[in-house]
Amino acid sequence: MADAPTIVWFRDDLRVADHPALSAAVERGAPVLCVFVLDEESPGIRPLGGASRWWLHGSIEALRGELEALGGRLVLRRGPAGRVIRSLVEEAGAGAVFWNRRYGGPEREVDTELKAALTEGGVDVRSFAANLLFEPWTIRTQQGAPYSVFTPYWRACVAAPEPRHPLPAPGAIEATGPDVASDELASWHLLPTRPDWADGLGETWTPGAAAAHERLETFLDERVGDYADDRDRPAVDATSRLSPHLRWGEISPFEVWHALRERRVHGDGASRFRAELGWREFAWHVLFHAPELATRNWRAEFDAFPWPRLHPAALVAWQRGRTGVPIVDAGMRELWRTGSMHNRVRMVTASFLTKNLLIDWRLGEQWFWDTLVDADAASNPFNWQWVAGSGADAAPYFRVFNPLLQASKFDPDGRYVRRWVPELETEEYPAPIVDLGESREAALAAYRKVRSSS
Ligand code: FAD
Repeated sequence: MADAPTIVWFRDDLRVADHPALSAAVERGAPVLCVFVLDEESPGIRPLGGASRWWLHGSIEALRGELEALGGRLVLRRGPAGRVIRSLVEEAGAGAVFWNRRYGGPEREVDTELKAALTEGGVDVRSFAANLLFEPWTIRTQQGAPYSVFTPYWRACVAAPEPRHPLPAPGAIEATGPDVASDELASWHLLPTRPDWADGLGETWTPGAAAAHERLETFLDERVGDYADDRDRPAVDATSRLSPHLRWGEISPFEVWHALRERRVHGDGASRFRAELGWREFAWHVLFHAPELATRNWRAEFDAFPWPRLHPAALVAWQRGRTGVPIVDAGMRELWRTGSMHNRVRMVTASFLTKNLLIDWRLGEQWFWDTLVDADAASNPFNWQWVAGSGADAAPYFRVFNPLLQASKFDPDGRYVRRWVPELETEEYPAPIVDLGESREAALAAYRKVRSSS
């Protein structure tokens, strides 16, 4: 069986360097069959949003190029992943299936079931740690429980053994023969047509590992020193913009961690940036222990929150950037146009939706899920619940952002807002769709109901 091919199943790790499953497959010595499965059918797997589909198309093209340059080949298949991989094992006569682990609930179910079935059939199944620096179950409180507060969690991570060094890309891949058929990428229709709304995404982003590494280098060369001071200013290009690349694993957190280390960047910028990588880890830690994070309040007492009946017009005004609150409209338009939004503005727009419009955080989370290129099964719901007050280590509900004060503090010369809401200077800009003071009071009154019921 040792010369029976090895299947490497790519998922959230669309890269060839620091890919332990691929490296182990090459080392095993038999021909390697690389596969990506578009799984929209396994129970509980969340369908990708529109912006993520756009990204995935580009990312697969990039990965295919990288694999081919090494002599490999990427096979594309669509369907429930467990069934697809089992059938590929048959077709290719594979003796081994390797993958890097994933941490979402439904995804783990698929993987566990598949591993059991294949192992029973004599296939060598191996999984590897590649997408998180600290796997969720490895960091525990002294009582053996998961963490629910970031600061002690991150302290425990930093005290744990240093994340391993990244692996180099394999020198060459011996591919299996061409007899295993692949779908055409175009047949998946990942790119939008009628209308093609993705112009702004294409102008802003280049999916793929090469672009990810370029972004990392630029960040380390030019920005990390001022990161701590400027990271909250949406008009300044101060952050790494690595999030969609990390989401799809075009770059690994080990590569980022050690690149930062090797530059010997010290001071606030580097440690602040490392801690942001820590928030990504923490979001996955929380999701691992609460797999329904996108649909259920992490703090159960929030189930008593009296969300008023939805006014769909208010939700649409928020989505389209027509609320009459400049920084909120700027953020929502940036999101629609570029598939991204600055972190500070994500917090402001999310607070406005949940606390001024009193719209359930889940509706905001879904909109971001559909429109963000970095939409992430852990970070998105985690951060929404953080802003809404229902989440782990969340901002207290009574801390309602005042969007006007936020704008004057973090966009003091109005550069960011004017970029996305140019009519502020030329035409009459509408009044806010809600009174900020009154809606704040209404939110606090609703919150008191949660507290009195807990
Ligand atoms: P940098 O400031 O350069 O940070 C480096 C990396 O650290 C990021 O690429 C990201 O991987 C991670 N990171 C930074 N902040 C956070 C955070 N608060 N939570 C988790 N990871 C973080 N981030 C996502 O990757 N996907 C999402 O779906 C997502 N949804 C969000 C929803 C809301 C309501 C809010 C408030 C934040 C959300 N974030 C999400 C977190 C954050 O806004 C983005 O990670 C960040 O803006 C990405 O820009 P950057 O890569 O330049 O970040």
